Amino acid sequence: MARYTGPVCRLCRREGTKLFLKGDRCTSGKCALDRRSTAPGQHGAANKKVREYGMQLREKQKTRRYYGVLERQFLNYFEEADRKEGMTGENLICLLERRLDNVVYRMGFAASHKEARQLVLHGHFTVNGKKANIPSLIVKAGDVVAVKESSRTSEKFKALAEAAETHVAPKWLEVKASDFTAKVVTLPAREDVDFDFNEQLIVELYSK
Ligand code: SF4
Repeated sequence: MARYTGPVCRLCRREGTKLFLKGDRCTSGKCALDRRSTAPGQHGAANKKVREYGMQLREKQKTRRYYGVLERQFLNYFEEADRKEGMTGENLICLLERRLDNVVYRMGFAASHKEARQLVLHGHFTVNGKKANIPSLIVKAGDVVAVKESSRTSEKFKALAEAAETHVAPKWLEVKASDFTAKVVTLPAREDVDFDFNEQLIVELYSK
């Protein structure tokens, strides 16, 4: 399935929650969801009864859209999470958190997952000193993610580093914005992710 290229605020209205897909606009008074919270479409405002399957499906879509992951990729993550020890749902969220584009977003070097993905695709980042331009690369504990040397002098990255100075990163990342680096000090735990996911509903959906 191709990547969604339509208006992203529709996705937030569809899921009924902020997915923070538009950077600074999401926390401004211009957020489309704050202005109109009904689902998109002609019957969006209708009071529909949501059944169990619908709830599970919406939770999966919400999570997938938040991280900007395609349907097939998401299923692959689920299968990998299921093979690991521990709770499948928690494993799934922790795997998604460890994607390189998410790490760049959590470092504060991008205002949205989409921007982070673009920066990674354009080759602006390294992992352990090696060029890393694959957004889906999964980082490990001890890895060091950094802005590529030649990108650091650009006005764009100077501004991003300045913005990252005030950004509050999760505790599993040790960010040194002035050095353009972040170290993965430990793997993310479920409680480190402060977004309202109900991963159990996703497990139930895929277990049918
Ligand atoms: Fe979602 Fe951001 Fe658009 Fe608000 S501004 S609806 S949070 S993408």
